[in-house]
Amino acid sequence: MIVIMQQGSPRVEIDAVIEEIDRLGFRSHPIYGVERTVVGVIGDNTRDHLEHFEHFDGVERVLPILQPYKFAGREVQQEKTTIQVNGLTIGGPRIVCIAGPCSVESREQFMTTARAVKDAGADILRGGAFKPRTSPYSFKGLKEEGLRILAEAKQETGMPVVAEVMDARHVEMADQYVDLFQVGARNMQNFTLLEELGRANKPVFLKRGMSATVEDLLMAAEYVISEGNRNIVLCERGIRTFETATRNTLDVSAIPVIKRLSHLPVFADPSHGGGHWWLVEPLSFACVAAGADGLMVEVHHNPRVALSDGPQSLTPKNFQKLMSRLPEIAAAVDRSR
Ligand code: PEP
Ligand code: MN
Repeated sequence: MIVIMQQGSPRVEIDAVIEEIDRLGFRSHPIYGVERTVVGVIGDNTRDHLEHFEHFDGVERVLPILQPYKFAGREVQQEKTTIQVNGLTIGGPRIVCIAGPCSVESREQFMTTARAVKDAGADILRGGAFKPRTSPYSFKGLKEEGLRILAEAKQETGMPVVAEVMDARHVEMADQYVDLFQVGARNMQNFTLLEELGRANKPVFLKRGMSATVEDLLMAAEYVISEGNRNIVLCERGIRTFETATRNTLDVSAIPVIKRLSHLPVFADPSHGGGHWWLVEPLSFACVAAGADGLMVEVHHNPRVALSDGPQSLTPKNFQKLMSRLPEIAAAVDRSR
């Protein structure tokens, strides 16, 4: 349930409500809004205490939350969440671009691509060090060595970095190197991992599972939030359908749907969404037009020799072309780039 405080209620009244929530063994989740403060109450059967909180000073109303995703949803928070990553704002008017190769393959490969995406104007650098591959015999990433290369590229380019963590046991180690933790489609419902990330102090880039509904995705975000971390970026990356012409079917409609249901920023990944490099540009345009707050795009300095996802990777030249055309599309939907 949520405790809605009166407009301008003083901090002592808010603190008294929070103290009582703690005393009853629930967890409080205050959202200090511009207009008023709303305090979420997390726990089982909080509804039994609905009336109890109505008697507290400064409380305007106490309401049950009807949506199953209590804190990822718009019921508790109307205002869009914005997330700060090393001075960069995610979820604001400006479209944010994450780019880089699918995998960190070597220092030379990564540095070359990192410099190229920076030159083209990307904001955040991506690179997988733990790769979830369909076959156990495929390249599975350089692990910690890959993260070290990622950190080196961050140092040189000044760009924040994101990499996937596949297991709760990776979180502490990856925390030393990355600015955002990526949860891949295959791990969207790895609840141990989600809870571990909920206790981390960095934003989580949460990709939609290939067979997950929008509600499943929001419930996965809820797992992270329930442990205290509210900085989550959601990402539509394509779902499985009967269609075989594309690797996945990028669910463009999920973008406005999620934004209607949730205050969290929503990105799109046109690379995994389509599976072909030539689909990346049109899908990027479609997603920005549909309201995406940002894009995650795979770029490789030589896609033909990439150890993973070469067919869907843009060359630096094609990435530059995409980036040069993006401002026009962004402007058409009152966004900037
Ligand atoms: C990736 O970003 O390289 C990746 C493996 O993506 P997904 O989890 O969406 O398949
Ligand atoms: Mn990939």
